[in-house]
Amino acid sequence: MKKVSRVYRAAEAHWVGDGFPVRTMFSYNTHGSDISPFLLLDYAGPAKFPPSSKPRGVEQHPHRGFETVTIVYQGEVEHRDTAGNQDRIGPGDVQWMTAAKGILHEEMHGRAFTEAGGTLEMVQLWINLPAKDKMSAPRYQEITDATIPAVKLGADGSIARIIAGEYDGAKGPARSFTPISLWDLRLKTGSRTELRLPAGFTTLLLVLKGKVLMNDSEAACTAELALFEREGERIALEAREESTILVMSGQPIEEPVVGYGPFVMNTREEISQAMADFRAGRF
Ligand code: MN
Repeated sequence: MKKVSRVYRAAEAHWVGDGFPVRTMFSYNTHGSDISPFLLLDYAGPAKFPPSSKPRGVEQHPHRGFETVTIVYQGEVEHRDTAGNQDRIGPGDVQWMTAAKGILHEEMHGRAFTEAGGTLEMVQLWINLPAKDKMSAPRYQEITDATIPAVKLGADGSIARIIAGEYDGAKGPARSFTPISLWDLRLKTGSRTELRLPAGFTTLLLVLKGKVLMNDSEAACTAELALFEREGERIALEAREESTILVMSGQPIEEPVVGYGPFVMNTREEISQAMADFRAGRF
């Protein structure tokens, strides 16, 4: 059994640009290497936006040294970057962007969503890259809802959508640099599920909606995060309410982490270099 190490019940809220009211559920600044290979998770919304003619969001900004994974639950996000990628993702879609040696992008509400107004709910997860891959070429994976396999959990309609990693023979479409599992669980009230994840891996569980009992002992509710111990392979879940849960598991990257804003590298010198490269227009 993978024991619950800690449940985080209060997250700091702030705005990212004028489009994303987020709660930072974890960050390498506060959680250190306990969450490696993950670096940060911002949970945006759910928040209602009135109809508007001007899209909200975050104007062009850089990233270097890691990957950003955006999962949309409600609403619509449009993305454009200097590698020439441009697209719009909606409910169930995922964008897996490898910034690596450097990218500039903007993240805005979709035009149709902006004009109609509505509820926005999404997650942005930052995943670290091993030192050897931090300066590799940027990569972009648009993972549509239709390409994500949904595994039935029992007969009550509960499912696990496999974005990355493998569950019960179903393989997620995302390609990652280190072994990662990313599962979007939709559980009906009363459903019981046993997850199997590798021993030695970091495992985190975010409840977006509902209430779940873990290992018959500890509960987590809406906007709460559970961190599990690395030992053990099984996690028992029982949904006490209809629940939406994001399960993240990955092999820790045992390397120093030095970050500044949108750059996450291994040394201070590399951060200075990233800032110099950005200022010189080399992204
Ligand atoms: Mn960004």
